Amino acid sequence: MEDSPKYRGLRQQLVALLQQKGIKDAAVLEAMGIVPRHWFMDKGLTAFAYEDKAYPIAADQTISQPYTVAFQTQLLELQPGAKVLEIGTGSGYQTAVLLQLGATVYTVERQQTLFKKTQRLFRQYGYRPKRQVFGDGYKGLATAAPYDAILVTAGAPKVPQALLAQLALGGYLVIPVGAEEQVMTRFTRTSETTFDKKTFGVFRFVPLLEDKN
Ligand code: SAH
Repeated sequence: MEDSPKYRGLRQQLVALLQQKGIKDAAVLEAMGIVPRHWFMDKGLTAFAYEDKAYPIAADQTISQPYTVAFQTQLLELQPGAKVLEIGTGSGYQTAVLLQLGATVYTVERQQTLFKKTQRLFRQYGYRPKRQVFGDGYKGLATAAPYDAILVTAGAPKVPQALLAQLALGGYLVIPVGAEEQVMTRFTRTSETTFDKKTFGVFRFVPLLEDKN
């Protein structure tokens, strides 16, 4: 699939809309103006790729709404070269935005179909996560911890303690918390044993599922 002036134009309109909706971080807006979202969607949905909506991907999951991607990414306040763990690779779009921002990205997905599909897409389009893992994100990715930021892109009925444990001092965990709907929550690690917590409004995500084995 190609990028084209038409898609670039639609992306700039989407970026303008995100700005109207209150996204202020210039680097996030720029990155979302660059990454072709249509590469990460089903071919039949290409025409809708620059609508500010979530759409179905494989395995009954969804590609997050662009506003949600922008909002969560903005909350990460990434410094250049930040080390980021993403839970829920899904379509791979959010991963690509993090890479476009210059982050070193570790990403975890528990659906085999999506894991395989995004492996192909990243190779095809030259996106290079530091590691792409098939596994249960509830456990985080201890081997590469600690992270400057951890981003959960599925709704978590409870906060996985492993993720808090894998934050660097001063690091952020951005996670939508709740069952039916989720409160966007950001934890900051303030010491070995303490965390600050801030909340940022209500969103709706597909559930973060825990593997019981
Ligand atoms: N960032 C993605 C969001 C996809 S939806 C995008 O914008 O496309 C959330 C994803 O989280 C789904 O792909 C789902 O399979 C995955 N997920 C749910 N529970 C998980 C878990 N415990 N570990 C890893 N991934 C999980």
